[in-house]
Amino acid sequence: MTSGPLVIAVDGPAAAGKGTLSRRLADRLGLAYLDTGLLYRAVGRRVLTAGGDPSDAAAATAAAAAIGVADLDHPDLRDERVTDAASKVAAVPEVRAALLAFQRSFAAAPPPGAAGVVMDGRDIGTVVCPDAGVKIFVTASPEERAQRRHKELLGRGTASIYARVLADVIARDQRDSEREAAPLKRAADAFVLDTTALDADEALAAALRHIEAVTGGDPCR
Ligand code: C5P
Repeated sequence: MTSGPLVIAVDGPAAAGKGTLSRRLADRLGLAYLDTGLLYRAVGRRVLTAGGDPSDAAAATAAAAAIGVADLDHPDLRDERVTDAASKVAAVPEVRAALLAFQRSFAAAPPPGAAGVVMDGRDIGTVVCPDAGVKIFVTASPEERAQRRHKELLGRGTASIYARVLADVIARDQRDSEREAAPLKRAADAFVLDTTALDADEALAAALRHIEAVTGGDPCR
């Protein structure tokens, strides 16, 4: 492992359970947590609010240059139209470059009191923090991921049709995996955690076992 704060990189496709797992790992291990998808969501939202097209590279780049901490705090960041816009602005190399420095400085200098960071996204283990001490690639079948997202939407009182959610999950996977700039792919040295048949507790236990094996049982030194 490299020296410096412990970095746990959690990557994977949409709705595989990365967020829940990452938050729980951070809690359990006393680490800070950064949901990097929120950064792309904030950029997508800003473009939409300005009446722009998220696929327009110039509009997306201008939005990325303008985002600040307040942009990460909007209740509508998880709405479907913002989700869709996020994966469009995420394909723009200039947007990714603009967000890279923020993510790297968070990893290098966690907030006071945290022994390191858990960061979840698509390219943390491959591009943002290729030297991360622990890399976990969380995945699940598209049907299971769509089912979870569908239930989550219904739970929030949002109308949802399973077949549409599945089509959206598949379209987003394809856009995230096939883009040229930092596509979603497993780092060669990442531990693959398939959560299709696991609940949140089982996924946490499997991740902790892996972290213990990699760090020799003392992840936060
Ligand atoms: O993780 P989440 O679903 O919130 O991410 C929203 C979108 O942001 C993803 O579909 C992906 O296109 C993009 N993203 C990314 N790289 C990251 C995190 C998110 O491209 N590290």
